[in-house]
Amino acid sequence: MSDAAFREEVVRLAGDEIRTCIQCGTCSSSCSTAHLMDNSIRKLIRLVLEGRRREALASESIWLCTSCLLCTVRCPRGIRPKAVVSALRQICEREGISSRDASFERIFMDQIRSKGRISEVLLSAAYALRNPDAAVPIMEMGIELLSRGKVSLDPGTVKGMDEIERIFRELGND
Ligand code: SF4
Ligand code: SF4
Repeated sequence: MSDAAFREEVVRLAGDEIRTCIQCGTCSSSCSTAHLMDNSIRKLIRLVLEGRRREALASESIWLCTSCLLCTVRCPRGIRPKAVVSALRQICEREGISSRDASFERIFMDQIRSKGRISEVLLSAAYALRNPDAAVPIMEMGIELLSRGKVSLDPGTVKGMDEIERIFRELGND
């Protein structure tokens, strides 16, 4: 069943120009993670425009977007597909919709936002805590990498954190 309220909320968050999508697929063919996605970014936009809320919010693609912005740069209609992804993430977070990819993405982005880089050890530990069935292989790999000095517990903070914060704001991740 079509959910017009859902469509209108995404349009409000991501821009009215979404309505002009011609489904040309330029965004999907530019997308760096298209091969991993269950719904291409083009299809995700179609799901939104058709008000197919349940399918759109269940899509793992929402959490696989790397924010590379190639889709946004190349769209011939001036649409910002990444903004659609951000809007769907926002709705998922508000409604407590989660998945493995979602939990990884949140931990990853939290670390980038606080230090400008990730700590593989802390990232893996936090992910294992939220996904206990994945914990054993993660711990085994972590112990091996630590013992060989391949990863560090605290990689420090990058310079220019204000720039990181600006990027987050521009990506709609306030
Ligand atoms: S490139 Fe733009 S117009 Fe083409 S399918 Fe993607 S969002 Fe729609
Ligand atoms: S911003 Fe996301 S959806 Fe757009 S091309 Fe990059 S990975 Fe794909």
